[in-house]
Parts: sequence; C-alpha cells; structure tokens
Amino acid sequence: AKEEGRNTYRFFEAKMGAEVRDRRQLEHDLRLAISRDELWLAYQPQLDIRSSKVVGFEALVRWRNPARGEIAPGVFIPIAEEIGAILPIGDWVLTEACREAASWKTPLKVAVNVSAVQLHNPSFAQQLHQTLIETGLPAKRLEIEITETALVRDLNRTLATLRQVKALGVEIAMDDFGTGYSSLSNLRAFPFDRIKIDRSFIKQVHSNQQAATIVRAVLGLGKGLGLPVIAEGVETNEELRFLQEESCDEVQGYLLGRPAAIGSFRQYTHSDTDQ
Ligand code: C2E
Ligand code: CA
Ligand code: CA
Ligand code: CA
Repeated sequence: AKEEGRNTYRFFEAKMGAEVRDRRQLEHDLRLAISRDELWLAYQPQLDIRSSKVVGFEALVRWRNPARGEIAPGVFIPIAEEIGAILPIGDWVLTEACREAASWKTPLKVAVNVSAVQLHNPSFAQQLHQTLIETGLPAKRLEIEITETALVRDLNRTLATLRQVKALGVEIAMDDFGTGYSSLSNLRAFPFDRIKIDRSFIKQVHSNQQAATIVRAVLGLGKGLGLPVIAEGVETNEELRFLQEESCDEVQGYLLGRPAAIGSFRQYTHSDTDQ
C-alpha cells in the first residue's frame, strides 16, 4: 500500500509538472502574441433601438495561435492580467481600434474594453490621449467599457483616471451592469455616460420574472439618471421586443450581428446611404 501511495504521488507529481509546463508555455506564447501578429479584433454592431441604425461597434480581441487555434478572450485575458501582459495587449487593442475607426467614412463610435489593470496604470489617460492624437480619431467617437470589479481596487486613483479620460472627451460605459457589487453608488460616484445591462439578465427576460423586473429597474434607473442603457446579448426577437416596449436605448447581440472582422460591416463603415 505504501508502494502504491508513492506511485500515485509520482504520477500526480508528473501530471502537475506537465500542467505547470503547459501553463508556462501558454504564458510564453501569450507574451509573444503581439510581435507574432496573432491578435486581431472582431467587431460587433451596436444599434439604436428606435431607428434600428448601427451607431457603433464594440471591439473584441481575438487570439489566433497556429498551434492552439482560436483562444477565447474569456480564457486568455485573465491570464494576461495575471502576468502583466494585459498592458501591452490593452495598448495594442486601443491603438488598433482607434486606427480602424479613424479610417471609417462614417462617424460611428468604437467601444473598447479596458481592464482594471490598465485603469490602475497612472499614465493610462495620457497614453489614451496620445493614441487619439496619433490615430486622428476624435475623442467623442471612442468609448471605453469598464466593469464594476475594475472600480473596487483603489477607488480614488480610479476616479481620478476616469475624470481625466472624461476630460479628453472619451465616453465611459459601465459594462456587465448588475453582476458586480455596490452598483448604485458606483453610478453616482463615477462619471459614466452609459449603462450596459449584462447578457445574463437579457437571456432570462422571458423565463424569469425577476430578470425582467431587474431589466425594467435598470432602464428606469438609466432614465432617472439621464444615462442611456444598452442591452448586450440580445439573441431572440422576443428579447428585442421586450426591450423596445420597455424603451431601452441601444441593443447588441447575435440577433443583430455576431462579432466579425470589420470587413464584413463595410456597408456601415463606408457609406451612410444604405444602413
Ligand atoms: P464582454 O465585454 O461582456 O463582451 C461581450 C461578450 O459576449 C463577447 O464575448 C461577445 O462575443 C459575446 N456576445 C455578444 N453577443 C452575444 C449574444 O447574443 N449571445 C452570446 N451568448 N454572447 C454574445 P467574447 O468576445 O468572447 O469576450 C468575452 C469577454 O472578454 C468580454 O466580455 C470582455 O470582458 C473580455 N474582452 C474581450 N475583448 C477584450 C479586450 O480587448 N480587452 C479586455 N480587457 N477584455 C476583453
Ligand atoms: Ca464589453
Ligand atoms: Ca459586457
Ligand atoms: Ca457580459
């Protein structure tokens, strides 16, 4: 039994060793993703619910590695945050999204996800300013999306950064609203321009009375505070109809358009006649 125990332990140790090696290799590949040209941005349309017109796009980062295939941002962004690779990746995303949007013939907006780690970098606003100058994108066409969890660490520093961002003329959306904590006080304390209701509430508006109530409450809150509300993850006509009836402002989701390479949205970015 003792022998068996030792073998089990060795097996476990070998397996652990392999897992640690795999993870190291993944981190190594992630650090090289930019220089190897493996990152790209998918764009997902955001529509005004009344006119059904596309008003902007959310940029969503993608990592395509020759050996690993496509790795979802939900997997590699948390790792990038842990190992500090999120700063160069976040920079790359911002520059790329601004450069792309600046090339459009239509004045649509671009929304970029910004992680807590980026926000806590003291030079974030200054770098953002530099990026706008370099790419020529007017500040008012850029929006950054931040989650509530990004706000909890070092409130004062985050607030100062967000005020600087806002002073540049860049808009700020509270992402995944309803999933974090102390949402209501955050809405008052931070200079948000827009609320994004999390997909988890939208996908339940017809099956779950509480989800519907929460969505209505967030829409009422937005109205009361003068903040437009955008619903993410709209997948069905029923969900869209609900949001129309409840006077949501904007919608985004597979029903309206899946995230894709920007080339497939040329009718929006390069002419305003046939939207
Ligand atoms: P998020 O910011 O909440 O982005 C929305 C996610 O929902 C995206 O997943 C999008 O593809 C997906 N989605 C959109 N519409 C629908 C729908 O109708 N149904 C369903 N089931 N899903 C929908 P994605 O692209 O995999 O991104 C996942 C998360 O990774 C994002 O969540 C965001 O938190 C993070 N992320 C993506 N790009 C970046 C980035 O450039 N920087 C940072 N820091 N985070 C990013
Ligand atoms: Ca987002
Ligand atoms: Ca979101
Ligand atoms: Ca979400």
